[in-house]
Amino acid sequence: MYILAVIIIILGANDSAVFAIMQTPDYIKNIVEKLEQAGFEAYIVGGCVRDLLMARQPKDWDVTTNARPEKILEIFPDGKYKNDFGTVLVPVKPANGEAEDVVEVTTYRSEQGYSDRRHPDQVRFEDSLEKDLSRRDFTVNAMALRLITHNSQPVTQMRDKKSYELRDASYELIDLFGGAKDLKKKVIRAVGEPEDRFKEDALRMMRAVRLACQLGFMLEPKTERGIVKMAGSIKFISGERLRDELIKILETDKAYEGIMMLHEFKLLQYLMPELERGVGVAQNRHHIYTVFNHSVLSLKHTPSKKWQVKLASLLHDIAKPQTKRISSGQEATFYNHDIIGARVTEKIMRRLKFAGQDIEKVTSLVRNHMFYYNVGEVTESSVRRLVRKVGEENLADLIALRVADRLGSGVPKAKPYKLRHLEYMMEKVRHDAVSVKMLAINGDDLMKLLGIAPGPKIGAILDVLLSEVIEDQKLNDQKYLETRSLELNKMDLKELREKAKEKIEEKKMEDDEEIKKEFYVK
Ligand code: ATP
Ligand code: MG
Repeated sequence: MYILAVIIIILGANDSAVFAIMQTPDYIKNIVEKLEQAGFEAYIVGGCVRDLLMARQPKDWDVTTNARPEKILEIFPDGKYKNDFGTVLVPVKPANGEAEDVVEVTTYRSEQGYSDRRHPDQVRFEDSLEKDLSRRDFTVNAMALRLITHNSQPVTQMRDKKSYELRDASYELIDLFGGAKDLKKKVIRAVGEPEDRFKEDALRMMRAVRLACQLGFMLEPKTERGIVKMAGSIKFISGERLRDELIKILETDKAYEGIMMLHEFKLLQYLMPELERGVGVAQNRHHIYTVFNHSVLSLKHTPSKKWQVKLASLLHDIAKPQTKRISSGQEATFYNHDIIGARVTEKIMRRLKFAGQDIEKVTSLVRNHMFYYNVGEVTESSVRRLVRKVGEENLADLIALRVADRLGSGVPKAKPYKLRHLEYMMEKVRHDAVSVKMLAINGDDLMKLLGIAPGPKIGAILDVLLSEVIEDQKLNDQKYLETRSLELNKMDLKELREKAKEKIEEKKMEDDEEIKKEFYVK
C-alpha cells in the first residue's frame, strides 16, 4: 500500500543518529535483543523516536513487536498484561540507580470503527509494522527505529537486502509517512486524511496543538483545516482528557501560542466558551485591548512557570463581559468582575475536572487580583489581611498575576515601584500572625482558662482574637489574650460571630473604598 522507505543511517553520518544510539538505555536495547533472539521483530516507536531524532530526552519508551502478548509474556515472565490492546508492561531497572520503571511492549495492531469518536470499536493484532504505524496520529509520531546491535538478527520480512548487509550500522529508521522530513520542517501533519483521523478520535486535535507547543512546531495547513472542520466533535471527549492536554499546553513556554491556536482552530469555543465572550468587548480609557486580547496577552506575559498561575492570568478578567456597565454615557465599569470571575473560573475548572486544590488556587488568584495597593496609603494590617485571604504560599503567584495583568495591558514596566514596595511589605509582615494557628494562645489553653468544653465557641473566640491581632500585632501576647478571652467569654456565640464578621466587613469596606478611589489600579 505504502512505498516502503527504509532509511539506513550509518553511525556518524548524522548527529542526531549518534545521539539516538547514545541515549537509548541498555534496558531498552536488552528488550529489543531478547525479542529478536526469540525470532520476532522489535522496534522502538512513537514519541520516543521523535524525541531522539530531535535530540530531546524521551519521557517514556515504547517498543512495538510482531510477538503476540502471550509470547511477550513468555520472554518477559515478570511482565504484566493489563488490557486487551496488546500492551505488556515490562518492569526494568535503570542502571543509574533511578527508581524501577516499566516499558510498554505492544503488539502491532490496527484499529477499526470509532463510532463514539474516541475509542476504536475493535482492535486487531497485525503482522506488519506498516499497519501499526499507519494507525498513529501524526507523521512525527509514526516512525519506528530498529536498534542494530552485535546480537541483532537479520529481519527478513519487508527488509530489502541492503539492510542486513549494513547491519553493523547503528539503526534503521522506518519512516513511511515522511516524519523525518516533517521534523526538519517543524510541522505536525496527520497520518492519512486529517478529517478522517480527527473523526475517529477527536482528542487528536488537542494533541496536535499540544505537540506543536511542546516542540515549537506549526500545523501543516491541511491538518489545520481538518481541525477547523471537525472542531465540534471535541465535545465527545471527556473533561479529564481535555484537562490533561490543556495543562500540557500551559506548561510549555508556548502557552499563549497554544491558546491562540485553539481559538483560531475553533476549539476554544467548546473548551472555554466563557473566554470567547470577551472577543471584541472593548474596555475603557485605561485599556487599549479588548477583554479577550488582554486575557491572552496577560497569559503571554505571565512571569511564572506554574500552569496554575498562567491559567489565572488567562481567566482573571473572565467575568468582564457580563459585568460591563456604562453609566451615563461615560466610562465602562466592571464592578465585582473579580468575585464573579472567581465563580466562573470555578465553573470552567469543575467542568474540565481539575483537582480541588488547583481549583482553589486559581479561583483565589482570580478573586484577589484587584487588591489595592498604594505606597504610604496602605497599612501593614491591610497587607496582613491580604496575606490571610490569599495564603502566604500564594503571595508570589499573586504578584506574578499582577505583573502579567499590567504587561498584558500594554503598560511597559513589569514591576513598578508600587509592586516592589508591596513585596517589601509582605516580607515585613511575613512572620506576623495571620491565622489562628499563629496566635500566642490556642484552643486547649482557652478550654482550660475558661473551663468550657470543646465546641464552636472556642473557635469563635479565636476568630475575634485573630481579627484584633491582625489589626495590631502587639496584641499577640499570651497574657493580653487571656485577659481579652475572659471578656469575650461573656458574649454568646451569636454575638461573637457577629463581632468577628463585623471587623472583616468593616475592613473590607475600607479596602473597597480605596479600590473605588483609584477605580482600576495597576
Ligand atoms: P508524550 O509521551 O511526550 O506525551 P507521545 O507522542 O509519546 O507524547 P503518548 O501518549 O505517549 O504520546 O503516545 C505514544 C504514541 O502513541 C504516540 O507517539 C503516537 O504514535 C501514538 N498515539 C498516542 N495517542 C494517539 C491517538 N490518540 N491516536 C493515534 N495515535 C496515538
Ligand atoms: Mg510517550
